[in-house]
Amino acid sequence: MDLELRDRLDNLFNRIEVARKRVNNHHIVKIVAVTKYTNSEVVKKLYELGQRAFGENKVKELKKKSSELQDLPLEWHFIGNLQKNKINKIISLQPSLFQSLSSLDLAEELNSRLETSGKKIDALLQINASREPQKGGILPEYALDSYKKISDLYPNINLKGVMAMAKDSENIDEVRKNFRETRELFDKLDRENAKICSMGMSGDFEIAIEEGSNLIRVGSVLVK
Ligand SMILES: *Cc1c(COP(=O)(O)O)cnc(C)c1O
Repeated sequence: MDLELRDRLDNLFNRIEVARKRVNNHHIVKIVAVTKYTNSEVVKKLYELGQRAFGENKVKELKKKSSELQDLPLEWHFIGNLQKNKINKIISLQPSLFQSLSSLDLAEELNSRLETSGKKIDALLQINASREPQKGGILPEYALDSYKKISDLYPNINLKGVMAMAKDSENIDEVRKNFRETRELFDKLDRENAKICSMGMSGDFEIAIEEGSNLIRVGSVLVK
């Protein structure tokens, strides 16, 4: 067993425990281990330590790792910016969750390719909570309208909630504000279907959990 990885995972569990208990004892947080800094061998070690859900932000890497590890019962999440010329690839890879559906345009194109191939995909609507132009996603003020449009118009996309990144800032209040705004949007969705509020990375997952995240995407705290 890889002791260092075991320690890192234990440390992560302990930190999540503290944060989630500040919300309440029944608040469950799912961990998606982001593997963009590492290789399939390390993913396998994490699997042996009990981790099941993994995230990649590049289609090529998702393809490589998921095929190298196809014999393991892993759950793969796509969390990166999806270019339109990679839509067919993502469809054929059938990720367990496409977390980064970032525009209506992309939704339309994705839905039409899904229809053609007779498939469906589970997805999260990405919200540009920090309002930074270099980040993907829909601005908070348009998010509810876009969520509804996608649900109504694109039946092959099964929306399950939202994903957001906070501003990469030392200013905790600003980070918290980004998460809070996302959580408030999440609460306004039809919660029969929208169950996932994906917020928080290595540098800010505790704040995200305090603000109601139930899925964190962490890479560098585990492997770097
Ligand atoms: C890389 C990445 C993460 C994980 O980042 P860390 O800071 O290493 O935990 C989470 N979400 C997305 C969308 C990413 O691209």
